[in-house]
Amino acid sequence: MLRNKLLDSLKLIVFLIAFYTFSQLYYTSNFNFKEDLELITGEASNLPANWVGSKDVDKNIPILILAGHADSQGLAGAGTPGEAVDKFGLNPMHPGISDELFWNLKLQESIVKLGRKKGLNISSYDPGIRNIDDANDPRTNWSVGKRFSKLGGYAIEIHFDAYGKYGVGSGLIPPFSEQPNKIDESIARTFGRFPVLFRGGLGAPRRQIRVLEIGKLEGLLEKNLRNVKTRNKTIKLLATEIVQAFLNGII
Ligand SMILES: [Zn+2]
Repeated sequence: MLRNKLLDSLKLIVFLIAFYTFSQLYYTSNFNFKEDLELITGEASNLPANWVGSKDVDKNIPILILAGHADSQGLAGAGTPGEAVDKFGLNPMHPGISDELFWNLKLQESIVKLGRKKGLNISSYDPGIRNIDDANDPRTNWSVGKRFSKLGGYAIEIHFDAYGKYGVGSGLIPPFSEQPNKIDESIARTFGRFPVLFRGGLGAPRRQIRVLEIGKLEGLLEKNLRNVKTRNKTIKLLATEIVQAFLNGII
């Protein structure tokens, strides 16, 4: 009788250990999306920002995705080379352009592709010319984005922030003089928010173009982008979160 009881207890213990092990394995391999995103994009901006986007948005609003620094690969404003290149001396992803632009372009393409699939009125612009000295040249990101916003569209320029102490983290910089809307709010809830007057009001927000900092180009985020095994999955994860934020903002 006692032996049977002992055997039963032993069976229970073995079962519990097995259950615990499997549940741990299951849990770690099935992180939900939100946890994955925060894990990967790292810290969000903790700068004081108290704006709230409450203006309604038409569900067919035209959306324009711009890749940060696509027209400024000269000496000033080329974007961050990233931690891998700048700190650890790895080769840039593509000769002649900053790693930030390389990833901005990849993500831009992925957002538009996925956004169209989900029914968004979304497009992109690439100036093609990688260095335009005059920011007000009609072919720059900022000029095209400014015209787009003036016509009632939602123009947003995507960026990766500088690594370490040079960057702030992820977050949305809202437009300078336009009231933030529900898409802005939705994106800020996913990525964090910067103050409207960040660095005195940058060139893009002054032209009513939103700026989205995805995260610092360092650590896990950069490793996952650089690793060919995780690259597509990482870009897709980021694009999915951004498209979902658009969808949540217009519904
Ligand atoms: Zn940038």
